[in-house]
Amino acid sequence: MAEEVTGEGTKFDLKPNDELRFEVETKQTVVMEMTHGKGEVFGAELAKNKKYKFNSGAKVAVYTWHGCQIKISFPNLVGTTEVAYISKETPMLMYLNTHAALEQMRLKADEENMRGPRAIIVGPTDVGKSTLCRILCNYAARLGRAPIFADIDVGQGQTDIPGTIGALSVERPSDVEEDYSQLSPLSFHFGHKTPQTNTALYELLIQRLAEVINMRSEKSKRTNVSGVIINTCGWIRGAGYELIKNTAGAFEVDLVMVIDQERLFNELKRDLPHFVHVVLLPKSGGVVERSQSSRGEARDAKIREYFYGIDNSLYPHNFEVKFTDVKIFKIGAPVLPESCLPLGMKAEDNKTKQVPVMPSMSLLHHVFSVSAANSPEDNVVETNVLGYVVITAIDMEKQCFTVLAPSPRPLPKNILLMMDLQFMDIK
Ligand code: ADP
Repeated sequence: MAEEVTGEGTKFDLKPNDELRFEVETKQTVVMEMTHGKGEVFGAELAKNKKYKFNSGAKVAVYTWHGCQIKISFPNLVGTTEVAYISKETPMLMYLNTHAALEQMRLKADEENMRGPRAIIVGPTDVGKSTLCRILCNYAARLGRAPIFADIDVGQGQTDIPGTIGALSVERPSDVEEDYSQLSPLSFHFGHKTPQTNTALYELLIQRLAEVINMRSEKSKRTNVSGVIINTCGWIRGAGYELIKNTAGAFEVDLVMVIDQERLFNELKRDLPHFVHVVLLPKSGGVVERSQSSRGEARDAKIREYFYGIDNSLYPHNFEVKFTDVKIFKIGAPVLPESCLPLGMKAEDNKTKQVPVMPSMSLLHHVFSVSAANSPEDNVVETNVLGYVVITAIDMEKQCFTVLAPSPRPLPKNILLMMDLQFMDIK
């Protein structure tokens, strides 16, 4: 491996089709610079001689089609134990072919004034689903397309914070360091970190998201032709499998990409209508498996990033909100036996109902979505959200909360939806 250690860092010479991979350890930072050639991080091109900074927990791969030289340094590192390595085995050619197939469909859609390709990416956890979505969206944006990226993986939240499902229009490639955090997504409140917790609500929101995407596509030819790329969570067995099929139906997908699961591939080929193409793609050896705790840390980091920015570049606000100034709800009442329900109501209906939440100490540290709805009588469940706050203190005597919010007082709207997710605002 071509590697040269100098006082200022380590240089790596990448040959065509090589991939340099590294992980940033806890409390470390990595500074990376491309000194020659051409390279990309998950489909986003690197600028020459620009210093990119990656923070703790980042798992990065620089791929090159034509060869390049990369210098990486570890400003905070004492000793020299960080791992970075070059791999020659990657599925990038297959991913590029997939992109080419999508682009062919877009060209045809453009000519015939039809809808562009809609693709859903499925597979177990930690096979690189989110990464493939990012690569495909970036390649499309590099050609001047503007695909919609829909993220229904409530556990990680690539387009917004975890606990939400949403979509954004990728009009330019993602930022190398920050993913899509600079684009403004359209998000709906789910409130939990796995779809299992409330599948009825999850399915309702998927229907709603698909509807909104259809409306948006009808308004712009560029969006319509560019199509939709959908990221899913890794729940693929039992009810999770049914969800995948329903999601594919709701978005009327043309293409299903299964990563690294032959069984799932065969099942979907058998069960989906014949006009849906189902393809099996390999997983990259670089994809890093995450433990339960590192998943939790990633969720926390994502919420922190929402308030503080990736490099503490944002300054959130703390202010008091009177109990009487807000109306708090959670979505989904405890399921009652059918015999206890009013005539004509199903137990499932309860799971998508808004239930008032009284102020109490149990709200402390919870994340709340600020609904765009004007009144509780509007369809709050299916209304998008404007942003998020965390209740960081509660004064029962003074009857007020202190909230952490991205913008100064007052709150933009007064309906708050409670999440299971919590966030401790400790620096
Ligand atoms: P999934 O969506 O299937 O759970 P991800 O796409 O989130 O998987 O990938 C898991 C982790 O692996 C992410 O942190 C991602 O940055 C990292 N990763 C993906 N591909 C590579 C690669 N080729 N080299 C190094 N890390 C990678």
